[in-house]
Amino acid sequence: MLLSIENLYVKYGNIEALHGLSFHVNEGEIVTLIGANGAGKSTTQKSIMRLPPPEAPKVSGGDILFKGKSLLNVEPHDVVSKLHIALVPEGRHIFGNLSVMENLMLATYARKNDPAISRDLERIFDLFPRLAERRTQRSDTLSGGEQQMLAVGRALMTSCEVLLLDEPSMGLAPLLMYEMFRTLKELNREGLTIIVVEQNARLALQVASRGYVLDTGEIVAQGPSDSLLNDPEVKKAYLGG
Ligand code: ATP
Repeated sequence: MLLSIENLYVKYGNIEALHGLSFHVNEGEIVTLIGANGAGKSTTQKSIMRLPPPEAPKVSGGDILFKGKSLLNVEPHDVVSKLHIALVPEGRHIFGNLSVMENLMLATYARKNDPAISRDLERIFDLFPRLAERRTQRSDTLSGGEQQMLAVGRALMTSCEVLLLDEPSMGLAPLLMYEMFRTLKELNREGLTIIVVEQNARLALQVASRGYVLDTGEIVAQGPSDSLLNDPEVKKAYLGG
């Protein structure tokens, strides 16, 4: 087991957002977290990244184990640079006044002179040829879809082994949405472990091997994607009937 969330309780101030959440992710899997707005999906990802409050809440119980060791005392920058976990946040958060290339290279600051940086850059330009074409362009002039590609590319430039994505399909036209998920599947085939939070539950379950359904800070259903896709309760509540 690569990552194990064990009976996790977290709070924003006095408000508890996760109430004893447990789930796990094996190496090489795509796992999706689905659920309504406010269910705690983003909070879960931010807790894994160890983002400090107010971005992420305080853990008040339970543990997050990565390769068997607690993450709770790991600094956020070490989560990225030493444990090789990266997050593509909701809303992308790219630097609009910097070029595509500058955004990508910023993510490599902790890798110093790693000779693999240029190989990774080429791979990202392979995956997203639009970024290669626009490498010198200011990022705020990119379309929404291109900005999402850049956000994913930037996370990959940290040389991550585990990629967390928060709503990667948000604001994308259907074609680009499918394209994005196809790319995630390809990255997964190359060995990347992926934990994806997604409003489009059907799409997420189509690429993930397993899913967890969150409701107000708790897991209310879980299983292989196929069984969740065919579960009458899940269908009714999250898949549009
Ligand atoms: P969404 O799809 O809307 O992002 P979500 O499932 O990701 O939903 P979270 O954003 O994790 O849900 O929110 C879980 C709960 O924590 C909600 O009740 C939300 O109001 C609360 N919450 C989230 N961020 C904060 C914050 N910075 N301060 C206080 N409460 C927060």
